[in-house]
Amino acid sequence: MVKRRIAEILRSGQPDESLLIQGWVRTKRELKGFAFIEVNDGSSLASLQVVMNQDLPDYEAIIKKLNTGASVEVAGVLVPSQGKGQRIELKAEMVKVYGEADPETYPLQKKRHSYEFLRTIGHLRSRTNSFGAVFRVRNACATAIHQFFQERGFLWVHTPIITANDCEGAGELFNVTGLNLKDIPRADNNAVDYAQDFFGKPTYLTVSGQLEAEVMAMAFSNVYTFGPTFRAENSNTSRHLAEFWMVEPEMAFCDLDGDMDLAEAFLKHVFKYVLETCPEDMEFFNQRIDDTVLSTADNIINNEFQRLTYTEAISLLEKADVKFEYPVSWGLDLQSEHERYLAEQLFKKPVIVSDYPAKIKAFYMRLSDDEKTVRAMDILAPKIGEIIGGSQREERLDVLEKRILAQGMKPEDLWWYLDLRRYGTVPHAGFGLGFERLVQFMTGMGNIRDVIPFPRTPQSADF
Ligand code: ATP
Ligand code: MN
Repeated sequence: MVKRRIAEILRSGQPDESLLIQGWVRTKRELKGFAFIEVNDGSSLASLQVVMNQDLPDYEAIIKKLNTGASVEVAGVLVPSQGKGQRIELKAEMVKVYGEADPETYPLQKKRHSYEFLRTIGHLRSRTNSFGAVFRVRNACATAIHQFFQERGFLWVHTPIITANDCEGAGELFNVTGLNLKDIPRADNNAVDYAQDFFGKPTYLTVSGQLEAEVMAMAFSNVYTFGPTFRAENSNTSRHLAEFWMVEPEMAFCDLDGDMDLAEAFLKHVFKYVLETCPEDMEFFNQRIDDTVLSTADNIINNEFQRLTYTEAISLLEKADVKFEYPVSWGLDLQSEHERYLAEQLFKKPVIVSDYPAKIKAFYMRLSDDEKTVRAMDILAPKIGEIIGGSQREERLDVLEKRILAQGMKPEDLWWYLDLRRYGTVPHAGFGLGFERLVQFMTGMGNIRDVIPFPRTPQSADF
């Protein structure tokens, strides 16, 4: 008998087809002489209704085992459904129970659970409607991202997870060591003797693949990374994880305007793809999580993003008739409340802020002729704040060296990065997108811990 996925059966299954499904019981309803079992295999939000007639062999014994969470295989024939809510259902001819789930202890009974509670059962929460929808949409976002870049001839490059560079100079690094922490080798001045460590020097988990992506862009023109990044930031917010996925395109022969154009086309593509491939899940988010999810997606796809400079943004914030917690003044970084005011209240759509003060931005961003600002841009999304951060990179060797020194870093540590400016340098630009922030934005999920299967946050690395 042919095994079929439930999503496909619900979409195109026809009466009289004989087939087999495998999945987990969501609910059981026993009536006189027969029972309805909802079976879900993760392929769609909707479950397939299975009808079991009491004349099936071992009916009583099997029915007892079919509690919420049990794993089953059902063979049977599709019949038009008499009931409301589904076009078709499966009339069981054989039901095999793989594993039972004791209703006294299985924590996912048919009622709504809070996301806080579900985080404590991270190994089971993917079996709920909400997390099923989130992780299908997450998968669709990832597919859309690869599709977008591959269609445009970008090479997917794999940058290292263990690195000796602190790219952002942010100091939010996790150390990687092979040293025995109970017996740390010391140098003369009592400092840790990293010469004896695995790599012979201090190493960290990467905070960004950008510098290495620049290396690859100088050979392949257009590249992107899509991989995990790590930040030991002790910020317990609904938008920060210690381990998150980042997408970082890098383009040679490209300036900041080209970068902004790409970022906007990119977000539009991903939203469009997800709406087309996951309509049922997106409808679910709109009904159950945030009733602006579909209108936001529509807004992204059909409107041009608002572009303005940091200087313009500051003057708009100074005129705003709301009280901000943090001060607004030229030279200070925008806080999330400012970002959200611009995107959510003022423009009501994604906003691209560009040309930030050089002092608050990373050393590799291209200095403008005013010598006060750099060609950086952030895309700010309603409800999320910063979703993309990008820049045109400094391609002039002398300027870059000065900027590295000004930020208290050593040019010799970045000799290979500077070589890219020594040999065949070109204007180039790129951006970083926090993948989980994108999934949050897409689904309306309020907490970033609920859009990654296994969140890592301060004091929490379970499952
Ligand atoms: P924020 O100010 O929100 O902390 P950032 O300025 O530190 O962001 P970047 O260093 O520019 O962010 O990183 C690029 C992108 O990665 C951000 O635009 C954001 O989408 C995402 N990002 C940054 N930090 C985190 C984090 N801790 N967890 C999840 N995503 C993150
Ligand atoms: Mn940060």
